[in-house]
Amino acid sequence: MKSFEEIRGQDDALRQLRRALREGRLASGYLFFGPDGIGKRTTALAFARSVLCRERTGSEDACGECPACTRLRSGGHRGFHLVEPEGTRDIRMEQIHELGRLLSLTPVEGREQVAVFPDADRIGVLQANALLKILEEPPAGSMMVFVTRRVDLLPETVRSRCQSIRFRPLSAGVIRDILPDDEDVTRLAPLAGGSLGKIARLREMGVLALLDEVEALVGEDPLQAAEVCIRAMRGGSRDDLATRRERTMAFLSVLLERERQCVAAGGDAGRADFCYRRLVTGLDNLRLNVDPDTVLRATLVEIGPLWPKTLSS
Ligand SMILES: [Zn+2]
Repeated sequence: MKSFEEIRGQDDALRQLRRALREGRLASGYLFFGPDGIGKRTTALAFARSVLCRERTGSEDACGECPACTRLRSGGHRGFHLVEPEGTRDIRMEQIHELGRLLSLTPVEGREQVAVFPDADRIGVLQANALLKILEEPPAGSMMVFVTRRVDLLPETVRSRCQSIRFRPLSAGVIRDILPDDEDVTRLAPLAGGSLGKIARLREMGVLALLDEVEALVGEDPLQAAEVCIRAMRGGSRDDLATRRERTMAFLSVLLERERQCVAAGGDAGRADFCYRRLVTGLDNLRLNVDPDTVLRATLVEIGPLWPKTLSS
């Protein structure tokens, strides 16, 4: 597990958390939000360790050696609760009820109890209502940390009872510090919206080679380029519809990111706007469960003729 000192590129968030720890003014609910793959979960776990530690360091990091830290590391700390969805299912009602029961018990070790929800996007409406009951009258010394991509994925009733902490996309400099400085990283970093997780995913998908291949084809024959993409979305160890949809979304997001950069670099804004809208429509259709192959064909046929200009900018 990482400590605050090892977390990179989230200085604002860490400053707020350290101040709360130092001043002993901890909220009963926190909402960590920002894109995937930038350190929210890691920070939530480091924060939980600091809250539970009895001998924090000068930088408000957990000491790693006190009885609370030792027990947390071995998985035996009774004041720490990790509430995660199992498999593809959302968090179950029984998990919320069990958490409420555990939090209401008098803590045996130390004073505090911390519950971390690393996938708070996957709390359903009924479960959120049950959580709200706990948040409205939080057991003394208890805290919940919700981690989500977007604040609006959590019901307003839960949000309003939490202190929100924004996590920012990682800068190109921080990414270069963390990842080996190779050509792939240099090309992928600006396409991945400052997310380490996304860089890894795009690399695993072979997106750079795919972009090169599509680039060579798409101006002349957008349909043929679409077929190349469709085949690429089927690659990998898993080839089910959900995986294809997820890969297609990642690929269209990359194209969207290129349009943003094209405009930022002073490229043809009208052309970029047209492509941007088509790509957003494609992503919306994927969310509406339109078949990924159909979406790729429709999108590439529309933006294909405009593609070369995107690249030259
Ligand atoms: Zn400690």
